[in-house]
Amino acid sequence: MIPAKFFASVGRFPELPDNPRPHIAFVGRSNVGKSSLVNHLANQKKLARISREPGRTQTMNLYDFSGRFFLIDLPGYGYAKTSKTQRENFSEMITEYLSTAKQLRMTFVVIDARIPFSALDEAMMEWLRQNQISFSIIMNKMDKVAPNDAQKLHKLLGEKYPNVKRIEHSIHSGKNQKAIWGAIETALDVRIQ
Ligand code: GDP
Repeated sequence: MIPAKFFASVGRFPELPDNPRPHIAFVGRSNVGKSSLVNHLANQKKLARISREPGRTQTMNLYDFSGRFFLIDLPGYGYAKTSKTQRENFSEMITEYLSTAKQLRMTFVVIDARIPFSALDEAMMEWLRQNQISFSIIMNKMDKVAPNDAQKLHKLLGEKYPNVKRIEHSIHSGKNQKAIWGAIETALDVRIQ
């Protein structure tokens, strides 16, 4: 198990701690399962609070993974009940972070594999592509997807984003967890586990 602990929560990009350790970022729609994913990777139940109400995580949360890197959980986007100002704030914080954080080594766009393509996910990926920020896709909640639908989703994503790595994940699968760790280690060019 990799020792991981909560490090900081920031509401604005300039508040980000000035620390040279590398970053791995997770971005995705609210309720896509990012908190559960952080917990799964750390093998801890309560590291990231799992929000019952989508949109409650309105900050950027930093987790310290064994002193080797920070896992950055960016605020979930697209929660309808969030006020317009907050929504704009979110996207600004997300885009400002992704385009300027020097420590960023890899961005994972987490999507809900049951909802193949939301306009917001597509907008996020297009923005990343236009800004030449490399990313991988985590197809989350795969336990809820029939094999046929999974195949269709791979095809769709493969056509739209031919050079983007896709990793399936479900909190119920240890195999998927290892694949994400593999991608993190490749991005950081170190062996952590
Ligand atoms: P966040 O808003 O992106 O941080 O999402 P959460 O981690 O709070 O999860 C939102 C909801 O999705 C919760 O009810 C979780 O139990 C559920 N969830 C998260 N990951 C999975 C998964 O892999 N499979 C299934 N079936 N449900 C999941």
